[in-house]
Amino acid sequence: MAARTGKEYLERLAASRPTVHIQGETLTGGIQEHPAFRNVVRTYAELYDLQHSDEHKDVLTYTSPTSGEPVGTSFLTPKTPNDLVKRRKAFKVWADHSNGMLGRTGDYMNSSLMALASAADWFAQADPAFGENIRRYYEKAREEDLLCTHTLIPPQVNRAVAGTQQAGGKLAARIVREDDNGVVISGARMLATIAPFADEMLVFPSTVLRGTPEDKPYSYAFAIPNDTPGLRYIAREPLDYDRPRHDHPLASRFEESDCVVVFDDVHVPFERCFALGDAELCNGFYSQTSSVVHMTHQVVTRTTAKTEYILGLVTLLTEAIGIEQFQHVQEDVAEIITTLETLRAFLRAAEADAEVNEYGVLTPAFAPLNAARNLYPKLYQRFPQILRKLGASGLMATPTELDIQGPGAADIEAYLQSATLTGPERVKLFRLVWDTCISAFSSRQALYEYYFFGDPVRMAGAYVKSYDREPYKARVQAFLDRA
Ligand SMILES: Cc1cc2nc3c(=O)[nH]c(=O)nc-3n(C[C@H](O)[C@H](O)[C@H](O)COP(=O)(O)OP(=O)(O)OC[C@H]3O[C@@H](n4cnc5c(N)ncnc54)[C@H](O)[C@@H]3O)c2cc1C
Repeated sequence: MAARTGKEYLERLAASRPTVHIQGETLTGGIQEHPAFRNVVRTYAELYDLQHSDEHKDVLTYTSPTSGEPVGTSFLTPKTPNDLVKRRKAFKVWADHSNGMLGRTGDYMNSSLMALASAADWFAQADPAFGENIRRYYEKAREEDLLCTHTLIPPQVNRAVAGTQQAGGKLAARIVREDDNGVVISGARMLATIAPFADEMLVFPSTVLRGTPEDKPYSYAFAIPNDTPGLRYIAREPLDYDRPRHDHPLASRFEESDCVVVFDDVHVPFERCFALGDAELCNGFYSQTSSVVHMTHQVVTRTTAKTEYILGLVTLLTEAIGIEQFQHVQEDVAEIITTLETLRAFLRAAEADAEVNEYGVLTPAFAPLNAARNLYPKLYQRFPQILRKLGASGLMATPTELDIQGPGAADIEAYLQSATLTGPERVKLFRLVWDTCISAFSSRQALYEYYFFGDPVRMAGAYVKSYDREPYKARVQAFLDRA
């Protein structure tokens, strides 16, 4: 098979039967029609259609080495600088489509799978079957153009003790037994975004395991179909209130559900396992395979698109109400421009300094991407703050589409006009600003960016530990020692 169309994505979803608890009901399928999911599912279908559009197909697809069919560029194993650029351009087309608001488009996990599969020999150290499994799974995902999500961390019950110790070891998802053809998983994982409308769930390692015998049942990596028997999702309250696009321009398109993941004796066949009972393999999963680098390459491209959107939005806002010339406004706009240029520079540096890794994959330099992923969680928090400050009461003068067409139309025309816009145009713009900085959707976006790569505090700790500061220390020491 080849890169999917939107129709093919929807057909597969319609045939899938994931179990989802949502607002007091339990769905077993029918996701694409449910009010909580149907709009975002439509947006995801649009992404798949872009792969076939005359404008984007050359960037979004390449020729599969096995089937000869066009497949998604995010599966491309980069060997040349042009491959890296093509990958980034493809990430950007999809990110632009949602203004960077969709965090879990397929290219994110595809990038991870590509890198993991290229490091099949690393998996094979523990068991040749694992190397073969990850390679085969990547090819399956590529040829079927699967949409994968992932779930990493144990439930947030008591962070004072390890995941393995929650509720006497009976809470976090763990291997409870093994049979002739696989393992059985019980317990829960904290969260998986887009789980109800993904095709596959990647259950990958995250927290550092100590390698003690108690850790063994928690050391695994596997992939299962979204509707595997015993797998259940508990969805949070949807933020798409099924309101018109005019009124909720972002939430009505880009609301990616977040779900708690429950494993109730879920059987995972051995051929779907990439690591089992091996803490060392799990701990090196992302770094030793370069997977984290390719994932971050996609994420920084997405956050660049998001920052471009914020800059465009703030410019329309400041022009609309004639505040461009005030210095503190310019200072805020400059902050957004600086963030954008910083992200672009990181991307450029990462690609310019790319090196071939031990598995023959041209891998962007991690140092700039690592800096970007440590910065953005905090930088993003400023954007809604700035939009709120500059939008001020205009963010409350936001009647709905029905009002614009209803008896209040003349008043809206007369009193809600702005320096550059008619009343209805200004309301439309300010509803978009509202959905970016005040609505429930916008708050979830801010939380998402903050925790995208895990807790920024602990990420900073790991960053400091991994960064080689010896040369700088030595230089200062030499200066101190200089006579
Ligand atoms: C919108 C959203 C979507 C998400 N989607 C996914 C997804 O698709 N897949 C997935 O796997 N995960 C997902 N996550 C989860 C994300 O990975 C976590 O939020 C992140 O790893 C932080 O873990 P936590 O939320 O459990 O916070 P906790 O670890 O519970 O931390 C809570 C607070 O306590 C502090 N704290 C806790 N433990 C320690 C410690 N040991 N040392 C220092 N400070 C500590 C933290 O600094 C933080 O302030 C998502 C999260 C959000 C918010």
